[in-house]
Amino acid sequence: MVAKATVLVTGGAGYIGSHTVRQLIRQGYGVVVCDDLSRGHRWAVPDGIPLIVADIADTTALVQAMQLHGVDAVMHFAAVSQVGESMSDPRLYYSNNVAGTVHLLNACMETNVRRFVYSSSAAVYGEPDKVPVDEDSTLKPTSVYGRTKLMVEKMLHDYATAYGLQYAALRYFNAAGADPAGGLGEDHQPETHLIPIAVQAALGRRGAVQVFGTDYPTADGTCIRDYVHVCDLADAHILALESLASCPEAAYNLGNGSGFSVREVLGSVERVTGRKVPSVVAARRPGDPAVLVASSDRIRRTLGWKPVLADLDVMVETVWQWEQHKLAL
Ligand code: UDP
Repeated sequence: MVAKATVLVTGGAGYIGSHTVRQLIRQGYGVVVCDDLSRGHRWAVPDGIPLIVADIADTTALVQAMQLHGVDAVMHFAAVSQVGESMSDPRLYYSNNVAGTVHLLNACMETNVRRFVYSSSAAVYGEPDKVPVDEDSTLKPTSVYGRTKLMVEKMLHDYATAYGLQYAALRYFNAAGADPAGGLGEDHQPETHLIPIAVQAALGRRGAVQVFGTDYPTADGTCIRDYVHVCDLADAHILALESLASCPEAAYNLGNGSGFSVREVLGSVERVTGRKVPSVVAARRPGDPAVLVASSDRIRRTLGWKPVLADLDVMVETVWQWEQHKLAL
């Protein structure tokens, strides 16, 4: 059997990165994690997997690790990713997400690593012109976070043209869920995402969920989002990596193609947990578009990606299991 590639996963101790690490291991890839542990967790990296505790801007540490472990490809998750924080602290976002990625890419060039899968975001579209959003929609991010993601996509294009970098930029919609195998899930401090907040409220670990805006032009007045399971995202990264030889430069949306309102999500959490989710109406959150739903036709057609854990209740069930496991830790 031909040995599979060794993949450097930046941000591999974070939410989406750690689920992808597990999936890569299951599929027989070599894995090396680089994470500065500023937001990721050591416990999220499986025993036996090399963990380089370093900033992605530390080119020397990265080059050394890539040479030592014979890295063939990079999956780049390491980033700060909160829209609100990006508006109040743009310096942090441009330094980490943009400048950090320049150094990482330069480490790749130095070690002759030419395969790169990048965590982008639906935030590159801003307020969409049409829904569902496809990859040809206008790219006009409304947040600093979205701008950092778009700037890196443009850099990747330039590195592809000049240096033969092969890359896929994966634009996630709303990542959600936890590994159904257990022991791994989302753990942000502070948590800002709707599903974990609602499950924690059902468990009585926090107060009422604030529903950010009930006057949007949607059926129940609350925002609609496209929730996609983190394990389906992980699979997409591996498919994208395996397709780089035939699709050396691509951007793909990752979503389920169907949207759920905030109230529908709260309903799902009540169904799955059998508990009441206390909620209060709150003001709109600045920068929230009314409806954000992906067309993921391109990756479905080109790479045969198909979300497996697409059902909202199934997604919520995995979060419910994970949050109870966390309680027991
Ligand atoms: N939301 C909410 N209350 C919360 C957190 C989120 O009403 O405590 C809403 C938010 O306005 C958005 C949706 O839930 O419409 C999903 O938000 P989340 O932060 O999970 O993801 P985002 O869409 O910002 O990536």
